Amino acid sequence: MKDCLFCRIVKREIPSEIVYEDEEILAFKDISPQAPVHLLWISKRHIEGLDEIAAQDQLLIGKILLKISEYAQKDEELASGYRVCTNIGLDGGQTVRHLHFHLLGGKVLEPKMA
Ligand code: AMP
Ligand code: ZN
Repeated sequence: MKDCLFCRIVKREIPSEIVYEDEEILAFKDISPQAPVHLLWISKRHIEGLDEIAAQDQLLIGKILLKISEYAQKDEELASGYRVCTNIGLDGGQTVRHLHFHLLGGKVLEPKMA
């Protein structure tokens, strides 16, 4: 999508620190990290959010979670745990309407989720 921030990152129109890439998925460092490790995992294809996924997306969503798990297993900073979350819509605090999973870790995370 033309004016979508994360689509522009996929197209390299906006710089980012990429940590993982394949034909369908991109992962890059969050510009405003909330933890020592704070990565954003996205589908390269524009999907607005978890509220917009369809049956045809289930393999892709599963693959993103698998790649996050594989990445985390290799990162020593994440050996004692981490958090994966996605915000949805206004009440969910989603500021970028392109589906993304936050991977947070490298410290003891706040137990509060809301
Ligand atoms: P959310 O609030 O769940 O929609 O998350 C959007 C995330 O994108 C926030 O954590 C922002 O810090 C992050 N972000 C915004 N702009 C950029 C950018 N240019 N590069 C990397 N991360 C970004
Ligand atoms: Zn997009």
